[in-house]
Amino acid sequence: MRAVDLIRIKRDGGHLTAAQVRSLVEGYVAQAVGDDQMAAFAMAVFFCGMSSDELSALVRAMIASGDVIDLSEVPGIKVDKHSTGGVGDKISLCLAPLVASCGVPVPMISGRGLGHTGGTLDKLAAIPGFRTDLDVDRFGRLVADHGLALCGQTERLVPADRRLYALRDVTATVESIPLIAASIMSKKLAEGIDGLVLDVKVGSGAFMKSMEDATALARTMIEIGEQMNKTVRALLTNMDQPLGRAIGNANETWEAIEVLKGGGPADVVELTIELGAEMLVVGKAAADASDGRRRMRQAIADGRGLDRMRAIIEAQGGDARVLDRREAMPVAAHDDVVRSTSEGVVVGFDTEAVGRAAMVLGAGRARSTDTVDHAVGFEMMVRPGTEVKTGDALARIAYNDEAKRASAEQVFLAAVQIGEAAPAEVPLVRGRCP
Ligand code: URA
Repeated sequence: MRAVDLIRIKRDGGHLTAAQVRSLVEGYVAQAVGDDQMAAFAMAVFFCGMSSDELSALVRAMIASGDVIDLSEVPGIKVDKHSTGGVGDKISLCLAPLVASCGVPVPMISGRGLGHTGGTLDKLAAIPGFRTDLDVDRFGRLVADHGLALCGQTERLVPADRRLYALRDVTATVESIPLIAASIMSKKLAEGIDGLVLDVKVGSGAFMKSMEDATALARTMIEIGEQMNKTVRALLTNMDQPLGRAIGNANETWEAIEVLKGGGPADVVELTIELGAEMLVVGKAAADASDGRRRMRQAIADGRGLDRMRAIIEAQGGDARVLDRREAMPVAAHDDVVRSTSEGVVVGFDTEAVGRAAMVLGAGRARSTDTVDHAVGFEMMVRPGTEVKTGDALARIAYNDEAKRASAEQVFLAAVQIGEAAPAEVPLVRGRCP
């Protein structure tokens, strides 16, 4: 059947067979199906969803679009973590070396920024020289030698996700449970893991705005993992405000380095420890979550996580001086503050708009071909509950382009909600699945 006929079936609410889903994905990777047709298909899925058989076929076809890494020679239970996307989410950068240093190998394939959310690959790109385009052999050797590898999708590793991810980003088809689940699980299942811990974000800065949708996404991904005999657990975590203070790329990488050194904002530290504890339990390096938390804190306190980060930066060609000097990463030409235009209490954020403000500044892409400015970004100076007067600083802003700064500042200011009463505190970990 022609691609157009398959798109029509989906558009009209019908179901595709596994062979039909496979032919679409294979055609897309072979470039017989174009971006235009795949965008139409993604939009049809966005509106009509997918049955669990269709989704399972999509995940399998996406995995089969590239090499599947075999890490069976590497001793230990290999466990990765993936976030569904947030604002200020730099957790992978400090979490992966900490968990690896506790004895659980972490093979990690990450993505670049998607929509208003930042991406681990863009943050890693702020480290001069750091290579994330690894081939399968190199990836396996790094996991064997360092218990850790950090890379991106390539033409050999889940190329279907590489292309579809970029396409969804510019066709308003990101916020779809089956498409997010297929994207994440195809990457993770191609990398040779035994277990996976998911950080499913929920709130104004997440793709899933409600607990109901976030739970549905978590359950969908857990089911896909179970079909492939993997242990998958999910934490549902708050994204009603940016995570930590830094939003950008180099500044977020620096904040993650601070966590490895025993500092960093409390919420970034807490989430790193919670997710790490879960990974250590899945990897059988901790008896239970409280033992896992203790081991994670220990790995921060004795500098093991930092040492592992140094080793992996050097092994992947990066400049490890970034661990000691923020200036070893790109620094913006200008630094200023964004000031409040009203008085009251910060009652919350439109966190998606905060992410968009960072994009406008140049920290993300509006089109897939845009280049990212790794130096620019915001440093939050207020949280929900902070009292502000007119003229008080809400955030620092680092920028290279005055016009972009002016637009980004407007978007940022509109995203900060100032009212009369301090909001109720929302826990960082809002739920767990299963
Ligand atoms: N992360 C991914 O890898 N894919 C998505 O679709 C969303 C978050």
